[in-house]
Amino acid sequence: GPRLAQFKLVLLGESAVGKSSIVHRFVKDSFDDFRESTIGAAFLTQTLKINDNTSVKFEIWDTAGQERYKSLAPMYYRNANAAVVVYDITQSASLERAKVWIKELQRQPNYQDVTIALVGNKLDLEEERQVSEEDAKLLAEQEGLLFFEVSAKSGDGVLNIFQEIAKKLPVE
Ligand code: GDP
Ligand code: MG
Repeated sequence: GPRLAQFKLVLLGESAVGKSSIVHRFVKDSFDDFRESTIGAAFLTQTLKINDNTSVKFEIWDTAGQERYKSLAPMYYRNANAAVVVYDITQSASLERAKVWIKELQRQPNYQDVTIALVGNKLDLEEERQVSEEDAKLLAEQEGLLFFEVSAKSGDGVLNIFQEIAKKLPVE
């Protein structure tokens, strides 16, 4: 019969890169220009049908990027099956912060079992771009990560992140 596989996914990245906006685009297909910043972490779920027999239910932890919540992050990524590390293509410093998150994930004992995606957000702000697609893609290749550039605002590429992650997860 139909099968429902459940997976835990965590979003990591500097404050204001658009983590919550990506999740809301995926879960509610909406965008809010004045989103309140996340306190601690938010939990949301969304189910994707991947073929006639199988659906994947994502249990999503949307973490706060602020330094004061940093010590809480391991609680959310420790048992995660997938991690989405987000940076803002208009802020070079946010890619540097993403690299630190990637290193932190790589130190986890179950690292080999975790599907990680590097995501450059705010693709609609192309004229303010500071991070080239080539540089970020190269980093993702070197570290063995999925890579996407998206816009939570327009919705461009957001669903694709979760579809590609679902393909990598161990669904029987
Ligand atoms: P978080 O702190 O990483 O969760 O970031 P938020 O989702 O709260 O977004 C931070 C700010 O960036 C908000 O003002 C959003 O409206 C804005 N934002 C998020 N995604 C995009 C995007 O794709 N394009 C543009 N132009 N702004 C965005
Ligand atoms: Mg947030």
